[in-house]
Amino acid sequence: RAKSAGRNRIAFFEVGMQADIEDRLALENDLAQAIPQQQLQIHLQAQFDAQGQLDGAELLLRWQHPERGLVPPDRFIPVAEKTGLILALGDWVLEQACALLVGLRAKGLNTPLSVNVSPRQFRQPDFVQRVQALLAQTGAPASSLVFEVTEGLLIDDLQETVARMHALAQLGIRFSIDDFGTGYSSLAYLKRLPLYELKIDRSFVQDTPNDPNGTAIVRMVLSMAKHLGLRVVAEGVETQAQVDFLVSSGCDALQGYLYARPTPAWAWLEAQGATQPLSPASHPLA
Ligand code: C2E
Ligand code: MG
Ligand code: MG
Ligand code: MG
Repeated sequence: RAKSAGRNRIAFFEVGMQADIEDRLALENDLAQAIPQQQLQIHLQAQFDAQGQLDGAELLLRWQHPERGLVPPDRFIPVAEKTGLILALGDWVLEQACALLVGLRAKGLNTPLSVNVSPRQFRQPDFVQRVQALLAQTGAPASSLVFEVTEGLLIDDLQETVARMHALAQLGIRFSIDDFGTGYSSLAYLKRLPLYELKIDRSFVQDTPNDPNGTAIVRMVLSMAKHLGLRVVAEGVETQAQVDFLVSSGCDALQGYLYARPTPAWAWLEAQGATQPLSPASHPLA
């Protein structure tokens, strides 16, 4: 019995792996349909400065799957990266960002919008030209666009990455290092890059203000950023005690559930200083 159970366990394990693989393939297939089937949505999460004024917003991708329901980006972005679908997804998100910027400008606003740009998307040989063409087509102001990249982008091909970041910065685009402190990159690169801000990862923010290691890390990042002239945003702010610590430590901006959850982009735009509310049908993203 024991022996055969052992063998069965192996068989079960293989069946489980098979199911995982099939599930992954199904997800990949479905993801390829997500754009044409209009299952993707953009949510926006606002950022606020130390005085509590709206200071920007981040685009966060959502996938409303017909059977699975809402699939979180942490689940499908890695799949999209692996299959290359991230290129189409990334283009689509950038188009949405430009449409939102045009919509904001129509209201007399120039709130900066942050877009997550994945390494594979950034490494497309014609990425700069694509961005340039999109800006020209839409008339969106490049100076209101912030690209969030992760330290992972800076691990290989640093030369090419630096050159490309400079080319995009020349267009007016600003750069932010997302999830700062969680990657393995050396700090030496920071002064070589045309950076605008660092986003302190949620895992560190959550350790403030009570955990001495958490507060030490946040203080160190803030002091380094000040010396380099970079803006610092704290991600994942959930409590007033975190706000008090972050603001008194010199953090420039805050983003997190305490202030605002990510909300559907069109609703967010509609709520922005509207003198004349847009109906969803007349909205550029409808
Ligand atoms: P991220 O860019 O670091 O985005 C921040 C994540 O933290 C978002 O998760 C946001 O909803 C969540 N968050 C914000 N405030 C709080 C808080 O107070 N508490 C907690 N627990 N979470 C908070 P989301 O939307 O699930 O996105 C996860 C990740 O997926 C993003 O991390 C980003 O790496 C990736 N992602 C999302 N949209 C895109 C996209 O358009 N393109 C690419 N390449 N990646 C994307
Ligand atoms: Mg981000
Ligand atoms: Mg982040
Ligand atoms: Mg993240």
